[in-house]
Amino acid sequence: MFLDIRLMEQKPISFDEILPPGAIRFDSEFSQAGPILAAGTAAFQEATEEIRVAGTLSVSLSFQCDRCTEPFTEQIQTGFDLIYQPVPTHTPGQEISIKSSESDLGFYEGQGLELNEVIEEQVLLAVPLQRLCRADCRGLCPVCGQNKNEFLCDCPAQRSDERWAALKAIH
Ligand SMILES: [Zn+2]
Ligand SMILES: [Zn+2]
Repeated sequence: MFLDIRLMEQKPISFDEILPPGAIRFDSEFSQAGPILAAGTAAFQEATEEIRVAGTLSVSLSFQCDRCTEPFTEQIQTGFDLIYQPVPTHTPGQEISIKSSESDLGFYEGQGLELNEVIEEQVLLAVPLQRLCRADCRGLCPVCGQNKNEFLCDCPAQRSDERWAALKAIH
C-alpha cells in the first residue's frame, strides 16, 4: 500500500493490512510463521511536510535457537509512532548525512511512502537480539553434541574446568 501525500492532504489514511509470508522479503535469519497484521493511520502534516505513521503490528516468526539450534516460533507484537520528513534537498558539494540513530525519524522521497517498508523496518526492530527457544535453554553439549534439553549426558563439564584453571592462575 502506497501512502500517497495527495490522498493524505484530504484526510488521514487508515490501514488494516494482512501480509502473508512472502509479501515482504526479509533478508534475515527468521521466517514468517503466519501473516503480519498491521493496523493504524498515516497522516500528512502540511505545515512541516511530515508524514506521521502510527499503529500496531503483530506476527508470528520462526527462529532457530542460538543455543540448541532447535526451531521455535515467537509472537512479535509492537506499537509504533513514526515521523517521516522529506529527504533534505541536496546542495551540490555538500554531504547529506542521515543519522540512523534517530530511529523514530525517517525520510521519504517524492509523493509519499510505501507502507510495506515501514512495516518491514518495524518487524526488524522488534526481533529479539537473543533468540532462545526458552530462557533456560541448556543448549548443546560441547563434547558430544547432544541437545541437553532432551537428554543430560555425563560428559565432563569443560567450561567449569576452564574457570578453575583461571582461578588457579590468579592465585
Ligand atoms: Zn534452545
Ligand atoms: Zn555430552
